[in-house]
Amino acid sequence: MKSVDIRKAFLAFFESKGHKVVPSAPMVIKDDPTLMFTNAGMNQFKDLFLGNSAIKDLRVANSQKCLRVSGKHNDLEEVGVDTYHHTMFEMLGNWSFGDYFKEEAIEWAWELLTDIYKLDKDRLYVTVFEGDSSENLKVDQEAIDLWKQHIAEDRILMGNKKDNFWEMGDVGPCGPCSEIHIDLRSAEERMKTDGATLVNMDHPQVIEIWNLVFMQYNRMKDQSLVPLKSTHIDTGMGFERLAMALQGKTSNYDTDIFMPLINKIEDLSGLNYKPVDEDKHKQALEINIAMRVIADHIRAIAFSIADGQLPSNNGAGYVIRRILRRAVRYGYQTLNLKEPFLCRLVPTLANQMGEAFPELNNQKMLIEKVIREEEISFFRTLETGLKRIDQICINLNAEGKKEVPGEAVFELYDTYGFPVDLTNLIAQGYEMTLDQEGFEKALEEQKNRSRKAAETDTSDWVVLKEDDAEEFIGYDYTEGDVYITRYREV
Ligand code: ATP
Ligand code: MG
Ligand code: MG
Ligand code: MG
Repeated sequence: MKSVDIRKAFLAFFESKGHKVVPSAPMVIKDDPTLMFTNAGMNQFKDLFLGNSAIKDLRVANSQKCLRVSGKHNDLEEVGVDTYHHTMFEMLGNWSFGDYFKEEAIEWAWELLTDIYKLDKDRLYVTVFEGDSSENLKVDQEAIDLWKQHIAEDRILMGNKKDNFWEMGDVGPCGPCSEIHIDLRSAEERMKTDGATLVNMDHPQVIEIWNLVFMQYNRMKDQSLVPLKSTHIDTGMGFERLAMALQGKTSNYDTDIFMPLINKIEDLSGLNYKPVDEDKHKQALEINIAMRVIADHIRAIAFSIADGQLPSNNGAGYVIRRILRRAVRYGYQTLNLKEPFLCRLVPTLANQMGEAFPELNNQKMLIEKVIREEEISFFRTLETGLKRIDQICINLNAEGKKEVPGEAVFELYDTYGFPVDLTNLIAQGYEMTLDQEGFEKALEEQKNRSRKAAETDTSDWVVLKEDDAEEFIGYDYTEGDVYITRYREV
């Protein structure tokens, strides 16, 4: 099944169950001071759940463009390293606003997955909320009983509050959820290890695909839970993960959603995306990760620009700029791409996604142009940085020194976006080493400065102060590979 048909089948199914199919809300949010990017399908319905606006349609479904690079949901570190977390992804969802509840939500999810999509029932697991004594919350027996009508009892697993109790924020609607997981391993592997033990264990082929949230409580200011008079359903299914399952793949990047992009990156770099045991082939692994990162990031960048958010020096624009530069860095460093290449992926992307998201096709030229200009400017920064490090090494050499001081490494990192390993590589060319400790110290100092400024954002919605926009992006420091945090334009 092609991805376009998978999306259509989802929407048609819920339409046949009386849902109104609505468009995706923009991915970049302009008018909500509490959230910069849409991170779940339900964001656009927040006011309906809170009772702040009138409900027109009791049943709604859509495919929502989401971005998870900041705040409560920040998946940036996983992207490319694993094969099923993206920055930008589509969340397929169905909602009931005070209309149907658990019974239909569970029945329809099961019907869609097993009757329409024909997923193998023996690969599916469901989790239900196990209860929480500190909150006096009981196990979600209702969900267990409903699931039992569809799935063998040993495939119904208990989940804790972290995974199976959804809350909007410190206050507001909340409730238990039930998640559907799929085991995509080979028959042989499945014989060896019981899939049930791998659910929620970050196994790349035993993955969560669909979250069904049953909103039945209201979290009050005093933290008590009060049952809601009118209960709601909020579900979200990862479209790319579903496509992986339906297309018989073991990586989202092997689906028709990403393959055209990967192929284009192979063309541009002259390198191959190799299906190898990545643990054993370090170089292939690095190339594969770089290609995945680029194929992922171009989507986040292009969709943001299509939403009217250009890369800039603050707020959402800065987040986009950083994602773009991250992708360029991977291309430059690992794929040896020394000229703008991201912009050349735009036609491929528009071709793949333009039917479902016309905004991509309509603004293809603009998107390409904006990305090209960003890339040119960043390449210049990289080149300047390269000259700078050459100069530093030459000077130190002349002084008979064999170590690049930590402050210099930090300057290259901070100002020119040079990851430490890149600096190290160049220094090695001069037979020099790096003062790692000094670098760590400078980095730590900067982190402390920024930590003070950053929001501690732990819920889906946080009320920011009016002028917080710039600070809001300050907390993505924890990225595993060394990260570019501030740039001085050169
Ligand atoms: P995970 O545990 O895999 O990080 P999640 O529990 O954070 O997922 P939810 O908030 O429940 O995800 O979102 C609903 C669905 O959206 C998930 O079941 C998953 O299929 C999909 N999803 C979540 N995050 C991502 C992502 N970064 N990239 C692609 N799909 C995602
Ligand atoms: Mg997650
Ligand atoms: Mg999860
Ligand atoms: Mg989940």
